[in-house]
Amino acid sequence: MPIDATLPYDDSNIFARILRGELPAKTVHEDDYALAFHDINPQAPVHILVIPKGRYVSWDDFTTKARDAEVAGFIRAVGQVARAAGLVEPGYRLLANIGGHGHQEVPHLHVHIFGGRQFREMVPPPRD
Ligand code: AMP
Repeated sequence: MPIDATLPYDDSNIFARILRGELPAKTVHEDDYALAFHDINPQAPVHILVIPKGRYVSWDDFTTKARDAEVAGFIRAVGQVARAAGLVEPGYRLLANIGGHGHQEVPHLHVHIFGGRQFREMVPPPRD
């Protein structure tokens, strides 16, 4: 179910627990600002999630409250992870789902990196 991304940060969310080391993750990158790990239910040959280390629910929360260094560090980490995965030349897709209409399910900001195959239309049409 999509979440209400305007609610306060919930420290019991799955990605908060991964950040605290309480749940396992297949980590591919970690620095001061970001953690990146393989999605548990991959939708492409490469499907990596990048999350900021700070307590931010959504893109809106992050870009409102995070320090410039956190924003820059996080965005650089996304690029670095995609580069390290060999996705620059073939290309890749970034996605951040935000709130109800965005169908965000985990209330800790995350950017999906998809790669390893050709993608088609950017946003599927609505179901009848
Ligand atoms: P979203 O709809 O953008 O909130 O996507 C949440 C993503 O988190 C989905 O692609 C899930 O497969 C992924 N996910 C949920 N739990 C875990 C987990 N424990 N480790 C890795 N990925 C997860």
